[in-house]
Amino acid sequence: MMRIKNIISKILTRLTGFSSPYRVFELIHYWLFGLFRQRQPEALWDGKLSYLRMRLTSRCNCRCRFCDIGRHEHKVKIRHMSTHLMYESCRPLYENLKQLHFAYGECILHPEMYDFCKFMTQNYPQIILGTESNAVAFTERWQQFAADNLMMVHFSLNAVSCDIYLKGVWSPGIDGGEAAFRQARQNAQDYLEFLRQRTRLCFAPSISMVINRDTAPEVREFCKLALSMKARWCSFYFDYTENGLAEPYFHDAAMSEVLLELMKMQRVLKDKLLLNFRLLIPLQEASPAQAKVNAMPEDELRREYDDLLQLAAERSIIGEYRQREWWRKKFRKHSLSILEDLRPFRHEIHLNKQCVCAAPWRALEIFPDGGVRSCCWMKSIYYTRAVSSRQRVNWAKMLNSLAFKYLRNEMLKGNYPECMECCPLNPNSHPVKTDLQYSLSDSNIIISSTNFEATVRS
Ligand code: SF4
Ligand code: SF4
Repeated sequence: MMRIKNIISKILTRLTGFSSPYRVFELIHYWLFGLFRQRQPEALWDGKLSYLRMRLTSRCNCRCRFCDIGRHEHKVKIRHMSTHLMYESCRPLYENLKQLHFAYGECILHPEMYDFCKFMTQNYPQIILGTESNAVAFTERWQQFAADNLMMVHFSLNAVSCDIYLKGVWSPGIDGGEAAFRQARQNAQDYLEFLRQRTRLCFAPSISMVINRDTAPEVREFCKLALSMKARWCSFYFDYTENGLAEPYFHDAAMSEVLLELMKMQRVLKDKLLLNFRLLIPLQEASPAQAKVNAMPEDELRREYDDLLQLAAERSIIGEYRQREWWRKKFRKHSLSILEDLRPFRHEIHLNKQCVCAAPWRALEIFPDGGVRSCCWMKSIYYTRAVSSRQRVNWAKMLNSLAFKYLRNEMLKGNYPECMECCPLNPNSHPVKTDLQYSLSDSNIIISSTNFEATVRS
C-alpha cells in the first residue's frame, strides 16, 4: 500500500513540479475549476522580480549542531550550482533585478562565486549584491571586495564567547570549533576596519544567533555585540531542534523568559537597531509576552537596559538606511525602499487594495539543482526540467505556471498554503505584527498602495 502511495505521489510530483505532492489535489481542482481566477491579473507575475536569492552550495566549513542542510540533502542532489545556471539560465532575470543575494551552506566556498561576483559588478553594476556567511572564510579579498562594492553582508556568528560557541553551536566530538570561532571573529573585525577606512560603516554586516538552552545566557551580550559592531540588524532564531515548529508553546519554559527579554530589548531599541526574532516562536507564546512587555513602564525598561542604550546612542535605523541610499546613488546602484533594504523579500505589498506578502510577486530563490520557490520559508520546492537542464529558461512562463498562479491566488484570498505557520507575515496563524513594525515608529513608514514602494518621510 505504501509503495503504491509513493508511486502515485512521484507521478503527481512529476506532473506538477512540486517537490511535495501534498498540494496536488488542490492544484488539480484549481486547474479544472479556477479558470477565471487563473486569468486575474493580480495572480500573474508582472516581470518585476526585484530580489533573487541563489543557494550556491550545500558545502560548509562549520559543523553547527542545529544545521538544517542535511534535512534538504535528500531533495537537493547537486551540491554546487552550475556555472551555466549562474551565468546563462538566470541572465534574463538580471536586467530588472535590484538585489542578488547568496545563501545556503557557506556560499563563498563555491569555486566560482568570487569570479561570478566580479562578473556581476562589471556587467550589472546597478545590482546590489549580498551574501550570508559564517565569516570563517570571509578573508581579506572578500572583505575588500564587499567593502568596495557596497555588499549587504550577513554573518551568522551565533555566540559572543568561545565557550558558549563550543557548548551551544559547534557539534560535539568534532574538532575545529575553537579555530573557526576565532577566525570568524577576526574576519568580522577586519571587515569592519575596511568599512571604517572607507567611511561606510552603514554597510556593517547584520548578524544572527541561534538560541538554544546553551546559548540562551548570551542573548543580551549578543545584542550588545551587534550594537558595538554597528550591525545593520540583529536576528535571533529559536533552535528548531529544541522546539516543534508548529507547536503552541516552547518545550523548555525558560525560553519564554528569553522571549520576554528579546521583546523588552526590541522596545528599548526601537528606531535604533532592528531586532528580528519572531520567525520561530511557538504560536501561542508571542501575544501574552508582548502584552506583558507593552504594559511595562518605559522608564523602568530604560533603566534596565541602560548599557544597551548607551551603545545605541548614535544609532538610527532610518538614518543608516539614508546613508546606504546615498552611497548607492553615488555608485549608480539601484535605489531601495526602506522595506527592500531591511526586508528584501519579507515585507508586504499593496495589491488590488489588499496587503499581501511580496515574495510570490517580487522574489525568487534558486537551489543548486534548479529547484525554485518564492521564499526560503515556503514548504515546497518547485522543479521544472527547464531550470536544471541546459535549455534556455522561459521565466515568465515558469513564474506564471499553474502552481505559482495558484499560490498567488490563494494568498490574495488570505490563505497562505505553502507558508510556514510561524512566519510573521502569515496572516492565518501569526497573532502579532511583523518585527519591522515593532522596531520602527509606524509614522516613519508609508506604504504606497499604488507603486508598492515604501518610502521614508523626510
Ligand atoms: S554555518 Fe550555516 S550552513 Fe554551515 S554548518 Fe552552520 S548552520 Fe550549517
Ligand atoms: S513564508 Fe510565506 S508569508 Fe512568510 S515571507 Fe515567505 S512567502 Fe511570505
